[in-house]
Parts: sequence; C-alpha cells; structure tokens
Amino acid sequence: MSQPQSRLAGKVALVTGGSRGIGAAIVERLATEGAAVAFTYAASPDRANALAAKLTADGRRVLALQADSGDPQAILAVVARAQGELGGLDILVNSAGITLHTPIAEVSVAEYDRLMAVNVRAVFLAAQAASKVMPDGGRIISIGSNLADRIPFPGLTLYTASKTALIGLTRGLARDLGSRGITVNLVQPGSTDTDMNPADGPMAPPQLATMAIPRFATPAEIAGGVAYLASPEARGITGTALTIDGGFNI
Ligand code: NDP
Repeated sequence: MSQPQSRLAGKVALVTGGSRGIGAAIVERLATEGAAVAFTYAASPDRANALAAKLTADGRRVLALQADSGDPQAILAVVARAQGELGGLDILVNSAGITLHTPIAEVSVAEYDRLMAVNVRAVFLAAQAASKVMPDGGRIISIGSNLADRIPFPGLTLYTASKTALIGLTRGLARDLGSRGITVNLVQPGSTDTDMNPADGPMAPPQLATMAIPRFATPAEIAGGVAYLASPEARGITGTALTIDGGFNI
C-alpha cells in the first residue's frame, strides 16, 4: 500500500482556478501527493506564478496557465495544453468559481450569463474535453457548495442555482463515464476562509450561527476531501457529493 504522500505519483492533474483560496490548496495537496499539476487562473498572474515557483522549488511539477473559465475556447485550449505539456490527464478538478450576493430584483442578464458561464458551462466543457483524453480510472471532481442543498440566506439565488446544476452534471457524467471506471464527484464546501468568503467578513456571523461546529474551514480541509476522491481508495465512489460544512446543513 502506498503512503498517502505518494498516492498520486505518476498522475497528471488539471485544477481550474488554482491561484488562490480553495483551488490553490488543492494544487498544493495534489502536487504534494505526487501528481504533476497544471492549474488555471484568470487575473492573478503574480499569485499563480508564486505558487508554481514555490512548489517547483519543492521538487514538484507544476504549471500555471492563464485561462478565463468564461471563455469556451480557453477551456478547451488549456485541457489540451495540460495534457500535452504534462504527458496525459488523469484528474480534473473544477474549482474556479465566482459568486454574486445581490437582491434578486437587481440581477442583470449579463451577470446571469457570466456566472453561469464560469460556474457551470466551464465545468461541462472541461469535463467533456478531459474525458475524451482521460484513461480508464480517471477522476473528475468539481467544487460545488453546501448552499446547493439548503439556502438559508436571501440574495444568493443565481449562485445557488449554479452550484445545484453541478449536482445534475455530476450525476449525469458519472453515468456517462462509469463504464470506463472514471469517477465523477462533487465536493461541497461550506464556509471556508478565502478571499471569496473571509472568516472575518460581514457575512461570517450568520454563517457561524448556522453551523453545528461554528468555525470556518481552511482551504486545506477542502483539499483533503478532493485528494481522497482523487485517490485509488475512492474508485468506487461516483455521482455523489462530499459536503464539508461543519454541520451547516444538518
Ligand atoms: P476565491 O475567490 O478565493 O478564489 C477563486 C479562484 O478561482 C481564484 O484562483 C481565481 O483566479 C479563480 N477564478 C475566478 N474566476 C475565474 C475565471 N473566470 N477563470 C479562471 N479562474 C477563475 O474563491 P474560493 O477559493 O473561496 O472558491 C473556490 C471554489 O469554491 C468556488 O467554486 C466557490 O464557489 C466554491 N466555494 C467556496 C466557498 C467558500 O466559503 N469560500 C463555499 C462553497 C463553495 P484569479 O486569482 O486569477 O482571480
């Protein structure tokens, strides 16, 4: 049995939205477990390059690639580039995401289109493209949200709809790809301390009040769930969601 540190040795992963927050922790975790990792960013080249440089200095194989998840061509190009430059593609993690906390009456068509393009269409396109080149036994993991199961606050209709769409996408893909042993799963974080949802932000108190364990998760805790689903041990888990939310939804 291989040690956890080398569970992913010889594997190649692509992580979308890996420059900051949860995605950056996933990049670090998968690379530390032995995978070669390409990751995307949209607008933070300095953060992305610093992460790649740090992990490369630690002896990991890591590639930072600019690709806006809202652009279908960029998604397809980055899947091809990751596969070409790292010599395959075994694991896709869709982590790039944006949020919108706005009263329903004020949500514009442009905001709807942008959020759905980044949070849902990009996941579909990346999974479609990756599954064409992935070997049997591959892994597709997307970062959803615990809000897909229960939404206790107003102003998050569009974001919640996008994350709930990922449940259907995950189940459908799990059926489509199961005959090849490719597993498709969601990790649904709850409140996690990142730029998107800082633990000391104005929205933190109502979140903490809703949790059984009133504490924001660290991005590394979410990455631990992703690494488990990516590991050989999890080969029988597909079409499901692992919720890591401190009991927010119980
Ligand atoms: P952050 O805002 O802290 O980081 C977002 C990351 O996604 C950055 O790396 C950013 O890149 C990248 N990104 C954003 N838009 C695009 C785009 N159009 N194309 C490519 N990359 C993009 O978010 P979190 O780390 O908090 O969130 C990560 C995921 O987890 C999201 O899907 C989010 O919805 C989900 N989530 C987060 C929760 C939380 O409490 N934090 C709770 C539940 C779910 P760049 O640096 O270039 O901007």
